[in-house]
Amino acid sequence: MTEHTRHIAIIGAGPAGLIAAEILSGAGHPVTIYDRKPSAGRKFLMAGRGGLNLTHSEPLDLFISRYPQGAEHLAPVITHFTPQDLRTWCEGLGQETFIGSSGRVFPKTFKASPLLRAWLSRLETQGVTFKFNHDWTGWQDNHLIFQTPEGEKKINAIATLLALGGATWPKLGSDGSWANILHAYNIPLSPLKPANCGFMVPWSDIFKTRFAGQALKPLSISHLDITRRGEIILTEKGIESGLVYAFSSALREEIYTQGQAEISLDLMPDMSVTDISEKLKTPRKRESFTNYLRKILHLTPPAIGLLMERPDRNLLGTCSSEHLAHLIKSYPLILTAPFGMDRAISTAGGIAFNALDSHFMLTARPGVFAAGEMLDWEAPTGGYLLQASFATGVASARGIMAWLSKTKVKT
Ligand SMILES: Cc1cc2nc3c(=O)[nH]c(=O)nc-3n(C[C@H](O)[C@H](O)[C@H](O)COP(=O)(O)OP(=O)(O)OC[C@H]3O[C@@H](n4cnc5c(N)ncnc54)[C@H](O)[C@@H]3O)c2cc1C
Repeated sequence: MTEHTRHIAIIGAGPAGLIAAEILSGAGHPVTIYDRKPSAGRKFLMAGRGGLNLTHSEPLDLFISRYPQGAEHLAPVITHFTPQDLRTWCEGLGQETFIGSSGRVFPKTFKASPLLRAWLSRLETQGVTFKFNHDWTGWQDNHLIFQTPEGEKKINAIATLLALGGATWPKLGSDGSWANILHAYNIPLSPLKPANCGFMVPWSDIFKTRFAGQALKPLSISHLDITRRGEIILTEKGIESGLVYAFSSALREEIYTQGQAEISLDLMPDMSVTDISEKLKTPRKRESFTNYLRKILHLTPPAIGLLMERPDRNLLGTCSSEHLAHLIKSYPLILTAPFGMDRAISTAGGIAFNALDSHFMLTARPGVFAAGEMLDWEAPTGGYLLQASFATGVASARGIMAWLSKTKVKT
């Protein structure tokens, strides 16, 4: 079935697609949003389960420096739709925001659902049409092809925005399957990789059984010249946590190039090597080694378990106090692989910026624009993911309007 429309087609009902729809429909353009899932904003709602860290309050230049990949392309876009603009937009939908102690910005409700409800209702008021259960599979003779419960549909839109998200948490809708479609059209892509993810550690069976699910804290992680304090969640397969995510981009690349990455854990970040070493001079008498560590140093069971993971564990009870103190202060942990894409918070890689013009239009496909996490940028957690998704959504909507007026296409 072929539908000829004078609509702008937005594919993907996540933050990037929805904000673009808001701007385009607000300017009087007819917009239809297509999504393969039965409802909008599923990943946005999932982000809301963690409190919905919308953006960050730090100065703009510092904010932009948080994008290790894509910063030069995102800088102008975020300057045009700033973290403050995102807060104002959120508050315009009746959801007050506040700055948390770390500078992160959240809605006061700590939820995405009231915000999404108000947003969708605004879009409906502005005349946006939603077509759910529409799975975009590519183009045929310049028509968009969708698989739907009613069969295949061909749509002839006047402009298209691809806002298909990354490849993580595929059950929420975005699975990166667009990469194969775009690759077939020779659109330059960077490989999709997990970002803000945990890492595999080959734990012993004993360690897994005893400690999976437990937190290792307090500690700090050092990698290259960066040290950060926090906690690690031990899992069956390795380690995870916000602290681990903060290192994940560098660790992932090290694993890809060198086969593994090593981090250094400080298991007693509040004491110096000298103080720990002094304490370890207390005679052990007939105490077991692990009991001794617990009583003398107040090391937690997971931290002691970690020491017992070492191949030289049988020698630790008899080594010098200095050697043991050094090991506790800089425990080397080998990471063998990032966790899979399905569990990562976000995706690195995507449509290369050199495939786009300054209006976010694919130079190889005039009239087709792209925005959001499917572009080749990467950022840590802290509100940077949503900010870039919104800001590129806004930029692409402005790009579509500029292109429509330049090409004199009437909606
Ligand atoms: C657990 C979790 C917590 C998070 N928390 C935060 C947070 O607190 N702060 C933050 O900044 N970021 C957070 N993020 C990341 C943030 O949610 C994403 O970066 C953001 O949703 C990306 O927006 P998007 O519009 O580009 O893509 P998405 O939100 O992924 O939307 C893409 C849409 O496209 C649709 N789609 C995909 N392929 C097709 C197709 N072929 N046909 C039709 N439709 C298709 C999908 O169904 C989906 O609805 C979190 C992510 C996760 C997984």
